[in-house]
Amino acid sequence: MDTTRFDDDLRAMLDEVESDRRGEPSDYLEDVAGQHVDGLAVAVCTVDGHQAAAGETEHAFALQSVSKALTYAVVLQEIGLDHVLEDVGVEPSGESFNHLSLHDDGRPCNPLINAGAILVHSLLPAGDEDERTALLLRRYSALAGVELEVCEDVLDAERTRADRNLGLAHLLADAGRLPISAREAVAGYLAQCSVLVTAPQLAVMGATLAAGGTNPVTGERVLDEWVAQQAMSVMLTCGMYDASGQWVAEVGVPAKSGVSGALLGAVPGALGLATWSPRLDEQGNSRRGIGLFEGLSARWDLHVLQHRGALRGLSGPR
Ligand code: GLN
Repeated sequence: MDTTRFDDDLRAMLDEVESDRRGEPSDYLEDVAGQHVDGLAVAVCTVDGHQAAAGETEHAFALQSVSKALTYAVVLQEIGLDHVLEDVGVEPSGESFNHLSLHDDGRPCNPLINAGAILVHSLLPAGDEDERTALLLRRYSALAGVELEVCEDVLDAERTRADRNLGLAHLLADAGRLPISAREAVAGYLAQCSVLVTAPQLAVMGATLAAGGTNPVTGERVLDEWVAQQAMSVMLTCGMYDASGQWVAEVGVPAKSGVSGALLGAVPGALGLATWSPRLDEQGNSRRGIGLFEGLSARWDLHVLQHRGALRGLSGPR
């Protein structure tokens, strides 16, 4: 991959989507100081640590639902895949992010819808809410290579809008599926949603997944390879809510979106890609973020299912 093109390509792509003002930002942003809904940033980090970015690269935004993929990875690493699969599936739900989508056996369909994410959060091996959040902050920070923090403003805004998540958690608790109280599970889940990152930091998190769990900037191994693979698997199949199928067809990059306008992508063996732009489409995905991913996937051949001549080695003379 020709990384000398990165700066030019990122700037060209920003220019292409800049004027798009379609969509509405999530309402929680009304209560968060310093937010501007027409902000725009894009950043990339390769698996060998080469970084580039354009736009408002210093602006910190909340992870929101992007955190679901990261917490899934942390919990897989801590307690193992079999254990997690007992409680949460890996099937796309085809429903909106906060729908109560359950398998026949009562498991949430996947870890990237709210019901699954709340349950996955509750599986973190820690004694109480503060310990769970502290463990997540340590792991998120290692993934990004910088100290990350919860934004109290965002958390307050989320707490005042928590009825639906509390409802989902109470239903899971009623079905005997939550190992902690519904209130504690939602409180911790909202704290993970409220962790702030910049686009360059988010791109490094993606690059860490893309590199099989080793942060390419710090050199720290944060996750096992199988964990990174499992996290990217659900990002590919479930990361864009009920637009996931179309996303694979058009962009083909394991990704996770959040209502802050964040979008995280990870192309295994190649790079992490992050965008931020708060105006959302009907599914709750960032409009200009989608445009940036579509454009960059085409420019840089990022679709993970593209034909790379995988069997070429078998077709030569014996
Ligand atoms: N905090 C939000 C919620 O759980 C996150 C939603 C999202 O980013 N899709 O409702």
